[in-house]
Amino acid sequence: MAVYGLIGNPVDHSVSPPMQEAAFEERGLDARYVTFEPTEDALGLAVAGARALGVAGLNVTIPFKQSVLPLVDPDPLADRIGAVNTVDFDGEPTGHNTDAEGVTRALEYHDVPLAGTAVVVGAGGAGRAAAVALADAGATVRVANRTVGRAEALADDVPDATAHGLAALKPLLADADLLVNATSVGMETDETPVPTSALHGDLAVLDAVYAPLETRLLQDANEAGATTIDGAWMLLFQGVAAFELWTGLDAPVEAMNRALRAAL
Ligand code: NAP
Repeated sequence: MAVYGLIGNPVDHSVSPPMQEAAFEERGLDARYVTFEPTEDALGLAVAGARALGVAGLNVTIPFKQSVLPLVDPDPLADRIGAVNTVDFDGEPTGHNTDAEGVTRALEYHDVPLAGTAVVVGAGGAGRAAAVALADAGATVRVANRTVGRAEALADDVPDATAHGLAALKPLLADADLLVNATSVGMETDETPVPTSALHGDLAVLDAVYAPLETRLLQDANEAGATTIDGAWMLLFQGVAAFELWTGLDAPVEAMNRALRAAL
């Protein structure tokens, strides 16, 4: 039996186990997906131990996405993003960032063109993954973040990107095609990082936040006539990309989506 897992702290509410196990079952794989919750100072031991025990692959979540980088050989995309959310133990441990593919594949699945002007709100791990992925897909990226210095640091790493504070969101969005919320604002609260008056019907809006599924931002965007894509789609496609990387098989997207949404 192959063992895969998620390493983070906390991970007790993760929906990755049912999503990945639905994929294993659908593809007839003898595999399990379990969660691990080491302390921060035991991360090195945990990764080495997982490797020694023959764990086949790990997803990595908060707070370890950056601190796991020196423990693995990151691929060029993970290196540019500066964060790893998937480790493959096939040979030397390699680090990958499937959050990036989570953004682009969620948008493609909803027929949203990627090559327009994209505003990414947030410059943490999810914001970095979104900005790099969208620029690579041909978008012109504008990064807006509460801490402007972090937006500037991200824009420096993304070709032709510009950096802004949150106060600039209204003019930034006026002619934009796409908005990605990659802040944690709206997670378990009724708050939004984007003023309602900045939203319009020509936007597609992807919210990385997935609890609740229908965030205040997505409710406002719906009312403005925008196309809306909830955070479970990003979660789904980062898991789809991880499954494909680990197994070399096409992921059963519909089965994974059903299991994920049933668990949320
Ligand atoms: P992170 O690295 O901690 O970054 C947090 C971001 O949120 C930063 O840009 C931060 O701005 C901003 N922020 C936090 N509180 C804020 C506030 N009150 N007002 C304005 N901005 C605020 O976290 P992350 O890993 O990027 O995750 C961000 C969100 O995306 C989380 O909710 C996470 O669950 C979600 N996520 C979803 C998926 C998915 O698959 N759907 C994948 C990854 C992450 P400062 O820089 O100014 O602090």
